[in-house]
Amino acid sequence: MNGTATVLARKSLLSSRRAPGRHWVGDGFPVHSLFGYSGAGVAERSPFLLLDYAAPTTFGPTTQRRGVGSHPHRGFETVTIVFDGEVEHRDSTGAGGVIGPGDVQWMTAGAGIIHEEFHSADYAKRGGAFEMMQLWVNLPARHKMTPAHYQAITDAEIPRVALPQGAGQARVIAGEFMGTRGPAHTFSPMNVLDLQINDGHRVEIEQPEGWSTLLAIRAGTARIGDEAELHPTDLATFSTQGRSIAIEAQGELELLLMAGQPIDEPVVGYGPFVMNSRQQIEQAIIDFNSGRFGGIPSSQSSQ
Ligand code: MN
Repeated sequence: MNGTATVLARKSLLSSRRAPGRHWVGDGFPVHSLFGYSGAGVAERSPFLLLDYAAPTTFGPTTQRRGVGSHPHRGFETVTIVFDGEVEHRDSTGAGGVIGPGDVQWMTAGAGIIHEEFHSADYAKRGGAFEMMQLWVNLPARHKMTPAHYQAITDAEIPRVALPQGAGQARVIAGEFMGTRGPAHTFSPMNVLDLQINDGHRVEIEQPEGWSTLLAIRAGTARIGDEAELHPTDLATFSTQGRSIAIEAQGELELLLMAGQPIDEPVVGYGPFVMNSRQQIEQAIIDFNSGRFGGIPSSQSSQ
């Protein structure tokens, strides 16, 4: 703030696209898959592997258990961001808990975990609004076999940064924004921001040169220069070159910004396993089938 206007080189918009239709993950999560770890553009999105978005929906009250039963992961992290509703989880490390509105569960599957993800019993009983995202973040090869663990990050632990001129706010989940650091520990450098930009405001968001940058829209319309207009469930991918993006909000805009230093290593995935080679995938399947991922304690006791 020295009075000198700095003009940062813009990152260019590589692509913007509408999400495909919803599909169900288990019987609890109707999601749009905004991107995945196969097909075109994997390198442009690194270190991010996958983003499933359960756009706002309403569930009626039930005593049924809705969600997805025990399943494994290896080689990456799952980041569950809940905006509305509640997700209850349990895993083979013996841990478990409830992820409520504003909370984030940053789970490092690493060498292997088995977990289950359901609507919480309380939320299922009362029903109501539901909205969440699950982001998969790759691990560098040297960390893929790190012991499984997770960070339960509550809404209160996520700092909020006001955007200049009353333009809105950013919740800093991981990395740094305007000098404020987020609580998530990550294995490679990245920023994950939950952004809210007020109607009619235009903001310039800086992200490092050389980093991938993605936007996923939740609500409102985002104008990116004269290049594109993004709507809810759209995904925008920007170039690693450049140091800023300019976003203009039409309507109250809510979006997730993901930016990270690309991991320049092969991505070989098969369902819930993402490794660096086919041989490591085969080993993951052997390890899972022979019970080396462990199990969820007392999984019979739940209602
Ligand atoms: Mn899972």
